[in-house]
Amino acid sequence: MIERSGNLIVISGPSGVGKSTLVKQARQELSYLEFSVSCTTRQPRAGEVDGKDYFFLSEAEFENKVQQGEFLEYAGVFAHRYGTLKSEVVARLQKGADVILDIDVQGAKQIRQAAADDPEIARAAQFIMIVPPDMATLESRLSGRNSETPESLKLRLSGAQSELSNFRVYDYLVVNDDLNTAANELIMLLKTMKMRTNIVKGEPFA
Ligand code: 5GP
Repeated sequence: MIERSGNLIVISGPSGVGKSTLVKQARQELSYLEFSVSCTTRQPRAGEVDGKDYFFLSEAEFENKVQQGEFLEYAGVFAHRYGTLKSEVVARLQKGADVILDIDVQGAKQIRQAAADDPEIARAAQFIMIVPPDMATLESRLSGRNSETPESLKLRLSGAQSELSNFRVYDYLVVNDDLNTAANELIMLLKTMKMRTNIVKGEPFA
């Protein structure tokens, strides 16, 4: 019997690229995936549930967790703070679950750094970036949402550009041109990760 530890799957992508939809489809298809619920200081949007979409915290509660060393990584994104709790990740990896982190580039870089210091994270961590086929497509998708003011559109586009310029931080790119194709590619990648020799525990053939 081959026993495995879990994969720590970091997925990033700029605002408007369709990351949430793709992650949702992958989770529906691959029911074994577990999702790390992040902490944030931003307000819940309509329909978001505390403890399911995020743990919604006050600035003071968030800072307390920083001081207590409870975060695997944390960062400021669009004027709010976001962080991944160690308690959402570490035990699940040990029991062999694949855990998805939907985090930004700053967070991904911190996980890379953590991997440099911790062989367990190094074995587990895999980095995927979801990208648009080009900037014009991203711009037209973001403006097509009609949810953005001209200022916030500009802010999101320049954020997207700087996020995309970091694509080499990641191991894999999934290009979201056609949604079904991208979903299939993401699912294929996630399935392949289960086959990595790095996550096999011990010496099963001894
Ligand atoms: P939103 O507010 O739209 O849900 O998320 C905004 C951005 O914050 C997204 O790019 C998302 O990936 C990122 N984000 C969500 N949770 C975390 C986290 O725990 N850590 C970091 N570094 N970024 C996060």
